[in-house]
Amino acid sequence: MPACMSHWIFAQQALRVLEYRDWARADIIIAGSQGTDPFFFCGKRPWIPRPTSAQIVHERHFATRMHERHPSALFAPLLDNARDQETLSLAFGFLLHWHLDRHIHPYVFSRSGFDASGGLSPPWNIEHTRFEFALDTVLVREYRQKFPAARIPRPWACFALSRNTRTALSAWLASVFPGETGKTTYREGLEDYAGILQVLDDRSGIKYTLAGKTGLMNSYIGVLIHPLDVRAEDTEALLNRTRKEWPDPVTGAERSEGLLDIWNAAEKELPRLVDLFERTRSGGYASCAGEWDAFYRNQNHDGCPPDGKMSFMRPVRLQSGI
Ligand SMILES: [Zn+2]
Repeated sequence: MPACMSHWIFAQQALRVLEYRDWARADIIIAGSQGTDPFFFCGKRPWIPRPTSAQIVHERHFATRMHERHPSALFAPLLDNARDQETLSLAFGFLLHWHLDRHIHPYVFSRSGFDASGGLSPPWNIEHTRFEFALDTVLVREYRQKFPAARIPRPWACFALSRNTRTALSAWLASVFPGETGKTTYREGLEDYAGILQVLDDRSGIKYTLAGKTGLMNSYIGVLIHPLDVRAEDTEALLNRTRKEWPDPVTGAERSEGLLDIWNAAEKELPRLVDLFERTRSGGYASCAGEWDAFYRNQNHDGCPPDGKMSFMRPVRLQSGI
């Protein structure tokens, strides 16, 4: 991730760049822009029991593997097998997800922290998600100011697809990645992610009060409650408008972009991404493999080389909602 609303906002921008294309279905591009993240939530609704064989657990970890690996592991098979509106739109959405992830993740990791091995063991997974969900709230606020007439969905509705479409796309992913993801895994991920967000949607503030009283605010559940009423000092910590320095997690080099600088850099590359996608569509992945490799810059979804280790950080401690 960044969390779901950030990806939704980025997908809106991509649709403006795309304009009309006969292969593009906006609803699937938007849902697809959540990338493989829905897999993270597959089977995580405690009130919906799901089977848990070793193979099923392996399939649910598809997102973790795909976030770590070189992006070609995901996109070469996806782009070579996408033929119709549905599958092309999903593949394009997944590309948008990786693209935003890889731009923003180094900043998020540097500012929210990670463990000694560069991973997100507790409590770092909680801090990471707290940062991303708070960022979602701030970016939605910014988006509302920029586009006052825009209809912004609730987070759980921003990747809604019909059941038939969810089922068909899920089966297609299983056919493209046999043994890696099951026939229903993606569909269950979409449903479980939406279900969790719906339960934790809290416009009245009562769930925050309850979470604060029961100590849940510092749990994974607590940080998924939304929208968060982000305090002014946290807005600066999240956006870094004053461009304080932060170390790149892998190289340690000092960087000083604010979040919106990074966002704009990602947006600027959208026309190139669309052009490359269009040419791959007509010529096949192999015809553009070199250009894709240049575009990936050897960065996985975390914004690091697949064999890179994160060691440098300067985390900020957010105060909102705690
Ligand atoms: Zn992601």
